[in-house]
Amino acid sequence: MTTQPAALPAFHISGDGAAIDFTNTADWHASEAPVELLTDYGRLVAWAEAAALLSVSQADAMRHAAAERPQDAAAALSVAIDMRETLYRIFSAVAAGAPAPPADMARLNAALPQALLRLRIQPAHEAHSFVWAWEDGPADLTWFLSPVVWTAAELLVGQNLARLRECAGHPCGWIFLDHSRNRSRRWCSMAGCGNRAKARRHYARLKRGEIYTPPGERVANDYAE
Ligand SMILES: [Zn+2]
Repeated sequence: MTTQPAALPAFHISGDGAAIDFTNTADWHASEAPVELLTDYGRLVAWAEAAALLSVSQADAMRHAAAERPQDAAAALSVAIDMRETLYRIFSAVAAGAPAPPADMARLNAALPQALLRLRIQPAHEAHSFVWAWEDGPADLTWFLSPVVWTAAELLVGQNLARLRECAGHPCGWIFLDHSRNRSRRWCSMAGCGNRAKARRHYARLKRGEIYTPPGERVANDYAE
């Protein structure tokens, strides 16, 4: 009997920028045992492709380079995960209104000039206009994380910083920008942590006898406690 390999979890591309999306490549990030979504270098490349930081041909080039240099690929993955954890600790602190850890700010500042070495200006498709671009360099197996570092820096000095949140569904650890008009978004998603919190509150009220549920009618929940 053959067993099908379990489907790999999908990446979540939010539109909040590469730095935030990269930070969310671990699930249950605020827990003691986060679930790692970047389980090997190929997954890092797959994330960068999903986030549109690598084109299909660039991603193929990176996979090819990694196959030829497996040790460098393993080291590159570890550099990438270190950067992600650095960003998570900074964003998590900022979202909680706490100072960013100085050691993490030092790591980000050390990565910034390296990232900016790859920044270029190139003509856009439309005539007489230009766009930012990143010079690729497969010799460095983490080159495509340059825009992650750059967008993290832009976020920290920009106006959107006041919208930075960490999901209230502890230990979800999801980082997002609150685009709601009255800045009241608390959850990564209502379908996920929002529902879990709602169901938990409902269950607590049931247990306290504050509400009555007729026999046979079950409380809808999608969580395990
Ligand atoms: Zn959440």
